[in-house]
Amino acid sequence: MILVKRTAEPAYLKKRAATWLLDLRTARKNKDKVLYKKIEARYRSTAVREALDKMFSGKCAYCEVVIAVVATGHIEHFRPKQKYPSLTFRWENLLLGCPTCNDGAHKGTKFPKARQNGPFIDPTREEPSKHIDFIYDPLSKLVLAKARTHRGQLVIETFGLNSRPDLLHSRTNYIRTLLAIKPEETTNQEYAELLAKARSGRTPYHAWINALGI
Ligand SMILES: [Zn+2]
Repeated sequence: MILVKRTAEPAYLKKRAATWLLDLRTARKNKDKVLYKKIEARYRSTAVREALDKMFSGKCAYCEVVIAVVATGHIEHFRPKQKYPSLTFRWENLLLGCPTCNDGAHKGTKFPKARQNGPFIDPTREEPSKHIDFIYDPLSKLVLAKARTHRGQLVIETFGLNSRPDLLHSRTNYIRTLLAIKPEETTNQEYAELLAKARSGRTPYHAWINALGI
């Protein structure tokens, strides 16, 4: 998880969000569930998906896996639209999320009550490393997230940042490969390119690349 600067709201959404919200409220008032669902889904537009994809360099806002270009459905509401319907079309509430972070076993529609920003960390509003340390554990030889705060712990547990085997192995293999490159080898073009690409931010697990000084 890394801090990401939010880009400007796509014109497509800006132009339509207010009307969509009015339509949504009318459908709710009329208790028309079918229409409500149809209107609610309007945020799933190519323009929004493309803007988020660019903003997050194609990576999940929470676990930093690269999301396949064809996975169009994973526009994530930081505050769940089921609990905060007025934020369904709010650009500032939208993130790019991978299918696993977004599923019911992980974040899903969870959003426990908190007084301020929390409980979870919106990486466009807060620096995640204030809450989570991104470490290489020499004992287990695993690349792990380690909580610095209560909210950091909640995020690690909810999103399974240390408990999803696929994520843990992919991340560990990637970072271990980078860590194993010796300084003298960076004159080798292949290694130099690998490091340059890793530092560019478009590759996965950038939080560790920053924290470990790769
Ligand atoms: Zn994810």
